[in-house]
Amino acid sequence: MPELVYPLDSTRKFTDQQYVGHNRWHPDVPANVTVSPGDVFRVDCREWFDGAIVNDDSADDILNAPLSTVHVLSGPFAVEGAEPGDLLIVDILDVGPIPQEDSGPLAGQGWGYTGVFAKSNGGGFLTDWFPDAYKVIWDFQGQTATSRHVPGVSFTGIIHPGLMGTAPSADLLAKWTARETALIATDPNRVPPLALPPLPDDAILGTLSGDEFNRVAGEAARTAPPRENGGNQDIKNFTKGTRVFYPVFVPGAKLSMGDLHFSQGDGEITFCGAIEMGGFLDLHVDLIKGGMDTYGVSENAIFMPGNVDPQYSQWLAFSGTSVTVDGEQKYLDSHLSYQRACLHAIDYLTKFGYSDIQAYMILGAAPIEGRLSGVVDIPNSCSTVYIPTAIFDFPVAPSADGPHQVDPGMGVPMSRG
Ligand code: ZN
Repeated sequence: MPELVYPLDSTRKFTDQQYVGHNRWHPDVPANVTVSPGDVFRVDCREWFDGAIVNDDSADDILNAPLSTVHVLSGPFAVEGAEPGDLLIVDILDVGPIPQEDSGPLAGQGWGYTGVFAKSNGGGFLTDWFPDAYKVIWDFQGQTATSRHVPGVSFTGIIHPGLMGTAPSADLLAKWTARETALIATDPNRVPPLALPPLPDDAILGTLSGDEFNRVAGEAARTAPPRENGGNQDIKNFTKGTRVFYPVFVPGAKLSMGDLHFSQGDGEITFCGAIEMGGFLDLHVDLIKGGMDTYGVSENAIFMPGNVDPQYSQWLAFSGTSVTVDGEQKYLDSHLSYQRACLHAIDYLTKFGYSDIQAYMILGAAPIEGRLSGVVDIPNSCSTVYIPTAIFDFPVAPSADGPHQVDPGMGVPMSRG
């Protein structure tokens, strides 16, 4: 095992750890560990809500999920010699849940959860159809996930960090705040909101304190969206074996990471989210001096995905076009066509005895593939969602025998939003 340079005790809250990480982006959050190009090291990561979501059969914790507290990130890590304009190479050598024997009451290890936020508390991709709070618990055995809330399904996880990135420069941070604030101003009372402005409440900023803490807390960006620094990209293919090239915006790069997922479908459509868990990352870092300019990577990371994807060879795919459920034609709206493809898949799975929310949870958590199949055939974009047939323990393709009926079991816990 590589040297554990960033330990987290599963029995303690994020703010009671040896190193206190952060839950906002700002160039002035101090690095708490320094590594050198060429180093290999292990980092522990907390589950993104720091243990607020528990392994039970109620969705009350999701209903009241404290969005102001996320994401709890390990870091920042200063990389010796990194300067603005460099590319930071990060290799994900290994990633996994914290071993079961280390579990504590706040841990979320050995199991994970998929939640759907209530529309009044963040919503999700299909919030107009699923406006309440829901939760599914998944149990891990080796690489496999199963759930007492979704019978008849088991699948190989595609383990990855949902969030990793470098610190923004002060200029870049100011750009983010300006453009996101302008978006919010177009519809400031929208539920759920269009974006999340800086919020000092519940900010965690490493070792900062006093006036400096207050200044940074008032300026720092929320961690929900992906941005030029990488951030919460939720790319399910960031598996073991992945090499990422991050732009460096500040001296030392200040790399941070967290939001580990045992598995996720493309789009992380449930928003809260994939299969959320705490765990570890083994990383190797290196630098390409001046690489941002050399390779034209001025914004957003590029990456080479790992090669340990689940081995599924047969898929049942659903398509959708950019026409609303009410029949209104939209112009090449791929967000809408992906929604329609997902709704199509959900409708289909309900014919097998699943509730619609059970089907939604399968799409959020299993390693489904989402694709922009066509983006030019006016006026309809075509999006598709591919479900591996082998995740079901019954034949799921259409046949003359009709759909097998699964016992829906206790179903998905729900709390009224
Ligand atoms: Zn997540």
